[in-house]
Amino acid sequence: MTCSLSGPARRDWRAPCFLLSAGYGARVIDKAEAASTTSRAQVVNPRALEMLEASGVTTTVLAEARPISSARFYKGWRRLAELDFAEIPSRFAMSVLPQARTEALLAAGLKAHGIEVERKVALESFTEEQNGMQAVLTHRDGHRETTFASYLFVADGAHTVVRDVLHINFSGHAFPEEWPLFDVELNDPLPIDHAHVEFVESGLVFLLCIRPGLWRGFGDVPKPLEHLPSGSRLGEVKWESTFHISDRLADRLVRGRVALAGDGEAARALALGWVGLARLALFHIRSDIEAGRLIPVLQDFNPGD
Ligand SMILES: Cc1cc2nc3c(=O)[nH]c(=O)nc-3n(C[C@H](O)[C@H](O)[C@H](O)COP(=O)(O)OP(=O)(O)OC[C@H]3O[C@@H](n4cnc5c(N)ncnc54)[C@H](O)[C@@H]3O)c2cc1C
Repeated sequence: MTCSLSGPARRDWRAPCFLLSAGYGARVIDKAEAASTTSRAQVVNPRALEMLEASGVTTTVLAEARPISSARFYKGWRRLAELDFAEIPSRFAMSVLPQARTEALLAAGLKAHGIEVERKVALESFTEEQNGMQAVLTHRDGHRETTFASYLFVADGAHTVVRDVLHINFSGHAFPEEWPLFDVELNDPLPIDHAHVEFVESGLVFLLCIRPGLWRGFGDVPKPLEHLPSGSRLGEVKWESTFHISDRLADRLVRGRVALAGDGEAARALALGWVGLARLALFHIRSDIEAGRLIPVLQDFNPGD
């Protein structure tokens, strides 16, 4: 079996890593010129580490990551509550590692299996044939390639056009607030092995130590860095950006031989919460089935994983 994967879908390089560790072939393409050097995500959650374990990438991530043990909540920097991550039922800790590094380690994991991410190669169109998918790819020099794969995993981000082509709804809502974000030098004013959330007049401010002396700060207030704990000494801002939060879910993850990678974790969480039935890839939920947390049903209708 071969699989083409469009868009490395930062978190969803799990799928090719899994396929490769299970002995299948895959091509991974990304229309971006180069790997990203900035990091939106800073935290790798325990579930992602569980899923990457078989590929060996968890070991390399943990060799560089820093565990954090809880999220602490404050008002006027007086602690109100604490969410203990030790209660998460996983062998792995919530771990801090900038997304650019996680992506680099995922790419190295693929390379160890002989797969190089093909950059500046875009999925242009695709059609389902009798035994697989025919896809048209555009390369960096403009030439078009028609290729064939058994399945297409699409992990091309929130603005994917593939979802529209497949008529898959992406319903939910977007919150209007803009969240300013800073990676800034700070004199470690709070314990570095916790995440910190300060409730302020009209929202909240979040602080997380990326590494000693460098912190991620963001909030749904115009100037989050004006709400730091007393004794904080600000240094250089290394990166700043803004983001918005949306709460949306694709109404299905698989259509024919095309799988959307990205919303699977939300669908799994709903199934684990007894909200209903979900169609999920075996690689994603094998351990849940083995542990009896999920039960396969309607297998006669399963078109295959
Ligand atoms: C401020 C912020 C903080 C976050 N913090 C965390 C965190 O701590 N932990 C966490 O787990 N997550 C975090 N996230 C979320 C995480 O960054 C995203 O969930 C993740 O990057 C989304 O991955 P994605 O694959 O869906 O999309 P993207 O990262 O957008 O990747 C899509 C890829 O597809 C490629 N592509 C698009 N179209 C095509 C095409 N036609 N052909 C080929 N390639 C294509 C693009 O070039 C891109 O490389 C955070 C997000 C933000 C904004």
